[in-house]
Amino acid sequence: TSQIEKRGFQAEVKQLLHLMIHSLYSNREIFLRELVSNASDACDKLRFEALDNGALFENDSELKIRVSFDKASRTVTISDNGIGMNRDEAIAHLGTIAKSGTKEFFSRLSGDKQADANLIGQFGVGFYSAFIVADKVTVLTRRAGDAADAGVKWECSMAGDEAGEYSVAQYTKAIRGTDIILHLREGEDDLLSGWKLRSIIRKYSDHIVQPIVMQKEEWDQEKAENVVKDEEETVNQANALWTRSKNDISEDDYKAFYKHVSHDYEDPVAWSHAKVEGRHEYTQLLYVPKRAPFDLYDRTPRHGLKLYVRRVFIMDDAEKLLPHYLRFVRGVVDSADLPLNVSREILQESKDVDTIRGGCTKKVLGLLEDLADNRKEDYAAFWTEFGRVLKEGLGEDHANKDKIAGLLRFASTHLDSPEESVSLKDYIGRMKEGQEKIYYVTAESFNAAKNSPHLEVFRKKGIEVLLLSDRIDEWAVGYLPEFEGKQIVSVAKGDLDLGSLEDEAEKKKVEEQAEEFKPLLEKVKTSLGDKVKEVRVTHRLTDSPACLVVDEHEMGANLARLLKAAGQ
Ligand code: ADP
Ligand code: MG
Repeated sequence: TSQIEKRGFQAEVKQLLHLMIHSLYSNREIFLRELVSNASDACDKLRFEALDNGALFENDSELKIRVSFDKASRTVTISDNGIGMNRDEAIAHLGTIAKSGTKEFFSRLSGDKQADANLIGQFGVGFYSAFIVADKVTVLTRRAGDAADAGVKWECSMAGDEAGEYSVAQYTKAIRGTDIILHLREGEDDLLSGWKLRSIIRKYSDHIVQPIVMQKEEWDQEKAENVVKDEEETVNQANALWTRSKNDISEDDYKAFYKHVSHDYEDPVAWSHAKVEGRHEYTQLLYVPKRAPFDLYDRTPRHGLKLYVRRVFIMDDAEKLLPHYLRFVRGVVDSADLPLNVSREILQESKDVDTIRGGCTKKVLGLLEDLADNRKEDYAAFWTEFGRVLKEGLGEDHANKDKIAGLLRFASTHLDSPEESVSLKDYIGRMKEGQEKIYYVTAESFNAAKNSPHLEVFRKKGIEVLLLSDRIDEWAVGYLPEFEGKQIVSVAKGDLDLGSLEDEAEKKKVEEQAEEFKPLLEKVKTSLGDKVKEVRVTHRLTDSPACLVVDEHEMGANLARLLKAAGQ
């Protein structure tokens, strides 16, 4: 009776659909994981909205997800009684990609199927993975609290491998929530099996908090096949992983749960699961990913942990739960003390949250220390991905400065390779007899640092110098005047005081030469005028005739150059 309206997809969606079908087929099972994950999100959203408005439950507060199949019509259906969608929401969420970074997504596609599959979840485009196995998808949905006839039927069918549009129509749906009906492509019939679907669910979605139910099956001798019974059973564990005792959780459980919270397809590098008791009680499950997410350096990166209060999901990306420089960490915090109606604004001011954040920060830094001490290769890989972000912590987190400093890795004249593998501890262990300070040089590139004329005297004396060439390095070391009682100084600043490494005879020679060359020095000073403050004789150089140095307390030349380039 009602109008069926045809609507065009956003151009990016078309591109995405093409990608799903042509590139991701080898990972086809992920469709179920993504759709179950959406169903679970929809249940979480309903539970959260119902905190303020119990009527949304419509007298049915038992949230669950149902997976079923129908051999005759060749369909697989994923249903939930979660929040549902109204017409506008269906159009906005299923016809466009609202997330920022869609362009970035396409530009990051490499053609490597595994890596590309990895990106889907991160970019929030999981729904479209339905088209990996289906050539037609029907969505029947009604938002919780709306009248039965305010439901929506959304449908999209692929002609060949292309889809340019979808349809929306009014639909009457007695039960709130969403049914996603997949009309399978040719050749996907193995999915029309309870055994197959159960095994995919257990593999990818075991940790989903809501029960995932399927109809029971029983072997029928006469028909010599499994027949579907009227009774339902729960297929997954259906409890929150972090609430279980550590002894009952396998490595694989932890990894699968990580993939769920992070939308990453790769295993995490390390994790920490702890229940914290005392004045504030909370459970934390924190993961360090293997690879940096695409938005790590965006102005507003996805950041923070999933927050639960007594197992009720409250929000994603609760950024107050971790400092900015640990924004790559993923995981869950479940607080026993925060109010259920906690909002982002309340989190801003909450002392409880400060305590949780302090605890989470310590845990993550401890996890990284452990990695650095015991799994050096993994730590090196971590450093390559996240080292730059960790350095930001020197400026941001004064309380943990020493811990962060211990985690830093540098290139140095010891290896003369751009690989950043030298820790400050390594450096101190190699310090020359009589050496009191840690020396570094900053430059625009590794090669410029390595070839800096400032290094000449250090090379001659065999003193190691850290070679810093990252943009943020000079700013970062500015927050680190010392480490384990050793001053950290630039070789390009002030009077080069090598302390007891200084050769008395050499020092004397320089003094004599300063006297001898006084007229020359004055001449150079006069001709350079205001461009320099002082011209002096030095023993810093062995091969180069001259170099520039800045005063002890002035900004380094490299930082000055950066600020100038930034228009400051
Ligand atoms: P993401 O889950 O990362 O947001 P998806 O492509 O998986 O991206 O889903 C897009 C959006 O469609 C979801 O954010 C949600 O608003 C909506 N959606 C998808 N499935 C459901 C569902 N079962 N119930 C309610 N809304 C849904
Ligand atoms: Mg999703």
